[in-house]
Amino acid sequence: MKKSIVQIVNSQPVRMGDVIIGQPIPQGILEEVNPFILLHHAEPKEISAHGPGFFVPPHPHRGFEPVTFVFQGEVEHKDSLGNESVIKGGGVQWITSGRGIIHSEGNPKSFIEKGGTMEIIQLWINLPAALKMSPPNYQAFDKEEIPSITQNQSEANIISGTMNGQKGPINSPTNITAITALIQQGGTSAITLPENHNALVYVLNGTGTVNGQNFSKQQLLQLSAEGKELEIEATQSTKLLVLAGEPIDEKKSMWGPYVMNTQTEIMEALRDYEQGKMGFLAG
Ligand code: MN
Repeated sequence: MKKSIVQIVNSQPVRMGDVIIGQPIPQGILEEVNPFILLHHAEPKEISAHGPGFFVPPHPHRGFEPVTFVFQGEVEHKDSLGNESVIKGGGVQWITSGRGIIHSEGNPKSFIEKGGTMEIIQLWINLPAALKMSPPNYQAFDKEEIPSITQNQSEANIISGTMNGQKGPINSPTNITAITALIQQGGTSAITLPENHNALVYVLNGTGTVNGQNFSKQQLLQLSAEGKELEIEATQSTKLLVLAGEPIDEKKSMWGPYVMNTQTEIMEALRDYEQGKMGFLAG
């Protein structure tokens, strides 16, 4: 059975410092696609040689999973667990913040020196109460480590979850499915998702149809939990992020870099960060 399209929303521009980011969720008409609570698309941008590039200095997270999909360019990650890694186009950086982690991210020096095109998506995936205070974890994989399924002029990259027997490298504590699809003009992609998981398709670029419904760039398609199959056709070269996950039926309290269940837990997060309980990372 095919998934149906619940609604299609346009990405909304939001200012982050001196750049404009596309934000399809949250927005007035679509607060979330539970458990996906925030999606930011930094569209392709040329970084000239010697920069300036982007850099987000050390900051904490608790209670959810901030994930960076690197579509073009290079992102360097450092965190309070001691991880340091540079991920290039086609790769992923997946933080399970759990009870607390501090990280910084930005273009590595070597990338800024030569310049290049940057395009990333940042996604916030909620965690259930039972996992909000779990130990923090960081997973990073380059394109070469991510299995792909080639179909009719299309490529589906399985980052997390399983499709056609191919399992993505991310060990997701909540069984999230994350797939990127690159479809050439006239190509098609058939994607099967777990039944009864909420799902969405975000269109980075291109035009086409998902289960017969038209899409164009910077749109997010919210899909039904019922059904499993997606039939995607591209009328122009298309780049998509496909996500599925089990909804979390709990109250949500969000403040800054924390996503908890109650206001009291947010206050505890602020205090624990101040007291150094989320670790340390030199800026
Ligand atoms: Mn962050």
